[in-house]
Amino acid sequence: MAVLEHLTSQQAIDLENKYGAHNYHPLPVVLSKGEGVYVWDVEGKRYYDFLSAYSAVNQGHCHPKIVGAMVEQAQTLTLTSRAFYNDMLGQYEQYATSTFGFDKLLPMNTGAEAVETALKICRRWAYQKKGIPENQAQVIVCENNFHGRTTTIISFSNDPVARTDYGPFTEGFIKIAYDNLRALEKALQNNPNVAGFLVEPIQGEAGVYVPSEGYLSAAKALCEKYNVLFIADEVQTGIARTGKMLAVDHENVKPDILILGKALSGGVYPVSAVLANNEIMDVITPGSHGSTFGGNPVAAAVAIAALEVIKEEQLAENAMELGEVFREELNKFIPSCDLVIQVRGKGLLNAIVINDTEDSSTAWDICMALKENGLLAKPTHGNIIRFAPPLVMNHEQLLDCVDIIIKTLKEFDK
Ligand SMILES: *Cc1c(COP(=O)(O)O)cnc(C)c1O
Repeated sequence: MAVLEHLTSQQAIDLENKYGAHNYHPLPVVLSKGEGVYVWDVEGKRYYDFLSAYSAVNQGHCHPKIVGAMVEQAQTLTLTSRAFYNDMLGQYEQYATSTFGFDKLLPMNTGAEAVETALKICRRWAYQKKGIPENQAQVIVCENNFHGRTTTIISFSNDPVARTDYGPFTEGFIKIAYDNLRALEKALQNNPNVAGFLVEPIQGEAGVYVPSEGYLSAAKALCEKYNVLFIADEVQTGIARTGKMLAVDHENVKPDILILGKALSGGVYPVSAVLANNEIMDVITPGSHGSTFGGNPVAAAVAIAALEVIKEEQLAENAMELGEVFREELNKFIPSCDLVIQVRGKGLLNAIVINDTEDSSTAWDICMALKENGLLAKPTHGNIIRFAPPLVMNHEQLLDCVDIIIKTLKEFDK
């Protein structure tokens, strides 16, 4: 079948509805082009992208340097599998480990795969290094976490929408309250079988929950005290999104295991990674873990370029500055508005909390109105709207976006 040249939005939506599984509930906008902070729908209307593919497109849509690296590598060598060496993977591993300060990297493709990989490394470390009896290892996780969609990962989710009728689930997880050091210490005390603590430095999907200052550094100290691995899931918060290369950098925390994905490729290709030092990563031996596409030459070339863009264009610094402006501007407006309770976030990972019940459609309706006014955002968990534009945004564009958001909220605040 030939691909249709000019699909209307409605035709594209109808095709997805008819032929695609209904595992998402998208905003009814059909995009066909992106550049920098902008995307265009098939009718040619331009929008600011305030989701950035859940922070995968931190470097902006179709960044020429990243796309260039991908095209060049795609015309040279795309996939060898790990049955043979390729000339790109080692270079990428060297570049990424020196960027993030770890001895070794294990390449995967998606965020969920990287989380799975981290859990496997943690469990092996528990048996081979910590001396936990076989099959007894436990990993502490937080309530309202989001770490992906595999069966093991949803085993420790408490989101019924993600879990219903997918059991039986994987054992070996202890769930505690997020941002609660006492709960963490209680879970660590008198339990020699705890292997790791898996945490998001900011809970993104749950609604951009920023933990109290000092939480991450104190949690890391507790993990050290009890000889437990601190595993940071920076799939969403990492790669400059929160104003630092990593969100843990705000508290100078060095995780034992670091999980990256999303913006590691600038959104052009699925690239994820797990980083750790030798004494941990050495538990991985030939044949004990793998992925056909993980570490392929295209992924390696793309990831190097994506990380270079972050540094060359100082996107962490830009996210830090613009994030301050964004929250400051919204905080000037919020006291005069009954509709919004709060703006919160770090860098350019922010959210507003809508003054309505969890199950109301207000946040969705606001997102529909934002779309009409030229800005795309999506509600997360009920009455919260996440605002996460590409980090290549400039000051003037940000103020333009603040105007759109405030104007739209005023339409609702009657
Ligand atoms: C998106 C996300 C994942 C899962 O990544 P996928 O590429 O969708 O599998 C894991 N952890 C966090 C914190 C995420 O935001």
